[in-house]
Amino acid sequence: MAEVAVIGAGLSALAAAHVLHDHGLQVRLYEREENVGGRATTRRRAGFCFDPGAQYIHGNAPASDALLLRRFASPELLAIAKPVWTFDSQDRLQEGDPRQNAIPRWTYRHGLQTLAELMARELPVATGCEIARLSYLQPGWRLFSTAGQVVAEVPAVLLTLPAPQAAALLSASELPPTLQQRLQAELGRSRYRPLLSLALAWPERVLPPTPYYALVNSDKAHPISWLAREEEKGPARVPPGWSLLIVQLAPDYSRAHWSWDDQALAEATTALVSRLLGRPLPAPDFCDVQRWPLALPEGETLLDLQALHAVSAPYGLFFSGDAFRGGRAHLALAVGQESAFQLLAHWR
Ligand SMILES: Cc1cc2nc3c(=O)[nH]c(=O)nc-3n(C[C@H](O)[C@H](O)[C@H](O)COP(=O)(O)OP(=O)(O)OC[C@H]3O[C@@H](n4cnc5c(N)ncnc54)[C@H](O)[C@@H]3O)c2cc1C
Repeated sequence: MAEVAVIGAGLSALAAAHVLHDHGLQVRLYEREENVGGRATTRRRAGFCFDPGAQYIHGNAPASDALLLRRFASPELLAIAKPVWTFDSQDRLQEGDPRQNAIPRWTYRHGLQTLAELMARELPVATGCEIARLSYLQPGWRLFSTAGQVVAEVPAVLLTLPAPQAAALLSASELPPTLQQRLQAELGRSRYRPLLSLALAWPERVLPPTPYYALVNSDKAHPISWLAREEEKGPARVPPGWSLLIVQLAPDYSRAHWSWDDQALAEATTALVSRLLGRPLPAPDFCDVQRWPLALPEGETLLDLQALHAVSAPYGLFFSGDAFRGGRAHLALAVGQESAFQLLAHWR
């Protein structure tokens, strides 16, 4: 019998679950998708392997160093050698900030999802299991699937979804009205930006080598926010002689083009990239479009984890996820651990 049900199996959930497990608690994770990793996910298609969400994980941070370099050390881990350069709204490229480029950027030979898969190996995870609602049992919680079945009854729940999804799940749940009101008021302050991410692929080299592996928009006034050349990222990321670009579109541009079909998005994005790189690109062999309605939390709407737990912990309800510390994978790992320690402090 699980003592803590962790809802979600993204990086913050997995980091939290390991802390709880290490401290002797029985945990079980419930993940909506068939795979673990959440927004740090990997796709495989036509011989290519690429990450439509998070692109790399920053090192030089306690949580990512401890987990990537030590506990889950793997020969799959790859330091991205080339730097990130910048571009502005006029398509002008510039060398990136040397201080930023000095911070290690980690990826994995077969995609970033590798980390979540390594972390999930020692944990019980129910994949393909979407939790639709909770019911408070005074004390404890009953979890229901989308089919209305009881999935678990546990003393404590750790919700690791983006805050707007956590708020929606709770509003469909039965919990004391005052608790519901206070949680909705706090979670309702969180705002996430949408993002369209495209993978454009060619079974040939369409660009010459570059001194950078990726470009980031510096003035936030370009339709593209991020452009990565996977074949420049590291060995084995792309079959020899092939090309794959990851293009992330800016929030406003993503909103305005959300309902465009994949073909139209592929054409428009290829034209934007051709203009940015000053080189006409052929139509890609394939284009994979990922729509992220809740891609990244807006920095000014981050939530206070401790204040939320002051309200929810007496009910055995805990939270984690990037809504609390910011939309970066290393921060999601860190807040997962932090949240687990807050749960343990309350548990004792
Ligand atoms: C396009 C994009 C690019 C990014 N690039 C970078 C980058 O380069 N570097 C970086 O550091 N960060 C990057 N990030 C941010 C980083 O991916 C996230 O901050 C981090 O992965 C968030 O982890 P999390 O565990 O908080 O949430 P998530 O990864 O979202 O995990 C939540 C999990 O809950 C599951 N779930 C949702 N609802 C339910 C339910 N009802 N029942 C069960 N399970 C449910 C979801 O399927 C998901 O697996 C990027 C994000 C995006 C979208």
